Amino acid sequence: MPVREPPAREARTLLLRAGSVDYTLVRRRGRRGVGLKVDSSGLTVSAPLTVPVARVEKMVLESESWVLGKLAVWRRRQVPVQRWDDGASLPWLGEALTLRLLAGRRAFAEIAGAELRVAVPAANDDAVRRAVVAWYRRTALAHLAQRAFFFSRLAVLAPPRVLLSSANSRWGSCNSRREVRLAWRLVKARPALVDYVVCHELAHLRHMNHSREFWAEVGRLCPDYRMLREELEATDHLYRSF
Ligand SMILES: [Zn+2]
Repeated sequence: MPVREPPAREARTLLLRAGSVDYTLVRRRGRRGVGLKVDSSGLTVSAPLTVPVARVEKMVLESESWVLGKLAVWRRRQVPVQRWDDGASLPWLGEALTLRLLAGRRAFAEIAGAELRVAVPAANDDAVRRAVVAWYRRTALAHLAQRAFFFSRLAVLAPPRVLLSSANSRWGSCNSRREVRLAWRLVKARPALVDYVVCHELAHLRHMNHSREFWAEVGRLCPDYRMLREELEATDHLYRSF
């Protein structure tokens, strides 16, 4: 069998009217035409082996406004980089906690006012992150279970079993065993957004679909759900930094 050659990738810079843009040129044997793609890793241009670079770049220039528009959207949606040094800011229920590093022989984390005090034997970023995540998971479970209990009373439902998930791409799920799984990362968002996700999953205990009846049930529990759903979609990259 013929061995398929991997595509050749080359990092290049192109001067546009609005400034220079870095891109990856991918050369693929057998490809027809030039294709442009913009995603979290920036601009990628795929082209057949035979098309000269000058012609490839002319095509990018012709799509300049499309490329710049897409790059701007991705830049706005970039996941923030979390710092782990003393004084760093941590998102918590729509507010900011200040990370306070203490010396300690055993790892622990506790909240004190607007500070999250964290002690680790060796203050490296990874150890701090692990202690912080353990605290987030612990307190997220308490908060989420309490909100699920509150809304299940409102919905006249038996309270479901609440479990945590580490999912980064979906905020909640549920199953026919009445288990609701909620992403612990959600507690970085403001409480109304957390409540929307809780109500969404509780409504699934009645309607295992996204029918009109389902959305009516969500609206009964959470009247602002449309606005909150949009806000969560527009800001969810902010809650993915760790
Ligand atoms: Zn759903």
